[in-house]
Amino acid sequence: MNSNILNDLHISEIREEHKRIDNNWLLLHYKISVGLVIFALAVECFMALILINSDMRTTTVSRYVWKFIVAPSGINFICIGLMTLAIRAKGLSQNQKIYGVSLAFVVICFILFAVHNAFTATYYLFAFAIILTTIYANYWLTGMTAITSIAALLIAEVFVKWDLDKISIFESTLRLGDFLVSLFILIACSFVCMIEIRFERQKNEASIRKEMERYLLAQRIQRDELTGVFSRKALQDAMRDMDGKEAGNNYIFAMMDIDNFKGVNDRLGHHAGDLCLIELAKVLKGHEGKFSVFRYGGDEFCLLFRNADMAEAVLICEQIQERLKELYFESYPMLKMTVSFGLAAYSDQLNAARLFTNADQALYEAKEIRNSIRVFGLKSHLENV
Ligand code: GH3
Ligand code: MG
Repeated sequence: MNSNILNDLHISEIREEHKRIDNNWLLLHYKISVGLVIFALAVECFMALILINSDMRTTTVSRYVWKFIVAPSGINFICIGLMTLAIRAKGLSQNQKIYGVSLAFVVICFILFAVHNAFTATYYLFAFAIILTTIYANYWLTGMTAITSIAALLIAEVFVKWDLDKISIFESTLRLGDFLVSLFILIACSFVCMIEIRFERQKNEASIRKEMERYLLAQRIQRDELTGVFSRKALQDAMRDMDGKEAGNNYIFAMMDIDNFKGVNDRLGHHAGDLCLIELAKVLKGHEGKFSVFRYGGDEFCLLFRNADMAEAVLICEQIQERLKELYFESYPMLKMTVSFGLAAYSDQLNAARLFTNADQALYEAKEIRNSIRVFGLKSHLENV
């Protein structure tokens, strides 16, 4: 697989993980909204009990219950219902759901504030709405939540007079002072949230960058630089898996060595030798569906066949030898390359280390003849001369 595609796949995996975390926060954001509405209803009921039995009440009980409990909580529960529908909607993207929940939360704050703004503490509900959006690290979302919150605060304070006992900001300097201070705090809170998002994004980007570097390094050590086949480290991992999580498969392990390779380097130079290794790797990769190719080191390669039988593996090794006979190097027309194979089969009685030793032993025997294939435990040599 092309390394750019691998990078993109890895980045998209990291982004998926971030999306999963955002989704968890979205569910918590929704639950906080439900909690706030239930808590407000409980406080409204509690306050009602106190006020109805006190001499501070200026209206009838039914009017009070309707105005301060049924109407606000009714609208708030409608908001919760809409949030629930948005969260469950299959047709909405995650981003649309996040905007929906964040803005519905502002509507809930607006209702609570418009109805109860005789209490100064309700000013800060909007700050809560803005802060809850910073986890998504989205400037537009937090910006929009801040603007709607500030607009909601102004509208509720200037145009809505739900509680007739409430003193307007235009009638009391104290109320006007509270209003201006809370407006200032809300604007400052919005800026602080924006700055926090900037740092949060820098942190995310740094961790993605570090994770990519770690991943690319891990990828690099899994590959041989010259030939692009799997490295010796990857072979060690595959052999560990053979004894571990992938135990039970039928493995055939082949070790392969170029014949008289040192002579190629000595006669034609290391560039010719490198070319041989690259071309050989291309031939091996041409068969890669049937086995995995590893460069063990120098001119030695290993082939790991999964779920293949010995006859099939030997046939493929013969095909590789045939293919190598046909190779023609334009810069070195006289250059010919042959290889020898030693094969061994994995069984329940063996472990990966033993399998390796057996294949090495078979290769040693094949090298006595060269351009040949030797199977561990079989007496006859399979020659291809
Ligand atoms: P034999 O048939 O017994 O295998 O003989 P040989 O000449 O192939 O001997 P051997 O396998 O021991 O030689 C390996 C040589 O491979 C020695 C080293 O100079 C050369 N070699 C190892 N790595 C590289 C490489 O990356 N590029 C090149 N050009 N040569 C390499
Ligand atoms: Mg050799």
